[in-house]
Amino acid sequence: MIVVGAGNAALCAALAAAEQGASVLVLERAPEALSGGNSRFTAGAFRCVYDGVDDLKALMPDLTESEIAQTDFSAYPAEAFFDDMGRLTEYRTDPKLCDLLVTRSRATLRWMRTKGVRFMPIWGRQAYKVDGRFKFWGGLTVEAWGGGPGLVDALYAAARREGVTIAFGARATGLIANDDGVTGVRVRHAGATQEIAAKAVVLACGGFEANAEWRTRYLGPGWDLAKVRGTAFNTGDGLAMALAAGARATGNWSGCHAVAWDRGAPEFGDLTVGDGFQKHSYPLGVMLNAAGDRFVDEGADFRNYTYAKYGAVILRQPGQFAWQVFDAKTAPLLRDEYRIRQATRARADTLEELVARLDGIEPARALATLTAFNAAVMTERAFDPNVKDGRGTRGLPIPKSNWANRIDTPPFEAYAVTCGVTFTFGGLAIDDDARVLHEDGGPIPGLYAAGELVGGLFYFNYPGGTGLMAGAVFGRVAGGAAGRQASGR
Ligand SMILES: Cc1cc2nc3c(=O)[nH]c(=O)nc-3n(C[C@H](O)[C@H](O)[C@H](O)COP(=O)(O)OP(=O)(O)OC[C@H]3O[C@@H](n4cnc5c(N)ncnc54)[C@H](O)[C@@H]3O)c2cc1C
Repeated sequence: MIVVGAGNAALCAALAAAEQGASVLVLERAPEALSGGNSRFTAGAFRCVYDGVDDLKALMPDLTESEIAQTDFSAYPAEAFFDDMGRLTEYRTDPKLCDLLVTRSRATLRWMRTKGVRFMPIWGRQAYKVDGRFKFWGGLTVEAWGGGPGLVDALYAAARREGVTIAFGARATGLIANDDGVTGVRVRHAGATQEIAAKAVVLACGGFEANAEWRTRYLGPGWDLAKVRGTAFNTGDGLAMALAAGARATGNWSGCHAVAWDRGAPEFGDLTVGDGFQKHSYPLGVMLNAAGDRFVDEGADFRNYTYAKYGAVILRQPGQFAWQVFDAKTAPLLRDEYRIRQATRARADTLEELVARLDGIEPARALATLTAFNAAVMTERAFDPNVKDGRGTRGLPIPKSNWANRIDTPPFEAYAVTCGVTFTFGGLAIDDDARVLHEDGGPIPGLYAAGELVGGLFYFNYPGGTGLMAGAVFGRVAGGAAGRQASGR
């Protein structure tokens, strides 16, 4: 059987197929040095169900008693995951797909562990230390060792151990299909096109986020101007070839995951920086647009529940950019990505000097906005970054609902951001076995899909850490079913 793509979803599919005794060929469009798709760019964060610390210990046996004593891991029960998926997608998420995602999340991570992927708690980004104790918030607690690169390397090592062949620089260009279904893949490798027969094919080759023309066509005008956070290779090939074979399109084709991303970042992701261009600490500060105005409630919710939709809001601002502003009180709480050398930042000892240094912004208006913001902060409420503290603003046209702190303590810091697109939401319709469905009803024999190119899970927004989890769950399902078909088990 053939798996198209070599990111997290594809490798999980390949491993699950190998378990079924199938002989597996993975086709990866990228050269080896750039392989691994968006998965390699991630921090490796996985959103999974756990009912308490015992579940985490089963996944991370290295967790020490003193770490456990110092930390409030709380729990993330299935009900909370369902609630988050429902609320964030405005209850449009496909119930069957969502059910598989949530109910298989814990078992799938344990299965990945048996393949050699190791996990650890996300101390650095998902927990603040308050009164000597870490507290995890926002349902996202587990990451792969070594982040995305560690995850992909572990999956590649496992695939090689299981006898899976990975061909790099091999771009699938079409499916070989007839009335009986899919019987192989057309592939361009080293300048030559060939046809490879297969008893089953799993498409796991990403969305269309790296295709400016498709972004404009489906997401709308202006999306050609967004930066791509990850791989340049996810240009919608898998979607195009499946649609040509009669697959049914489903989900939020005009929607995508997009975040605040450094304004000076390159057009596509840079593996030496990884996800370091993101700027996700805006709940601790304010964001100003070119007119000098705030344009969004930075503290509406934990960053895990707002970051994926705020990229689109930044794209809609004049000039497609914003400045995030912090002072010396909150600067120590900023995530590690604010410390990278490549950050587009400005610093000053007074707010007057700072606004004069914010490229492209109307300084007098920006200063007035900051002054009005400072006057509106409910200082009578205590600031606590670990909970939705209700420390908001009073009387502003756009409120800040939580974590409002006066920006009054020098030195002041600001970071220029634009919109960075992560992945697209629209995709292929699949059933419970990850079989791709035909427009005319029923599955297309021999064709399976997993990962970003599956439609129907995400609409409008997305809870952080769900992309890798969904890729692993559906990759495992698709690979298992395709592997059984290929091996005749
Ligand atoms: C900077 C960044 C940080 C992120 N952080 C997180 C995080 O911490 N947690 C999380 O859950 N999600 C995160 N995401 C989202 C996450 O990366 C994706 O949801 C997930 O990796 C998608 O996995 P996938 O296997 O479907 O696609 P990918 O990992 O993108 O793999 C697709 C593969 O298909 C290949 N391909 C494309 N076209 C072809 C073709 N024609 N023929 C052959 N191969 C082809 C590509 O080269 C690539 O290897 C992040 C994304 C980015 C960009």
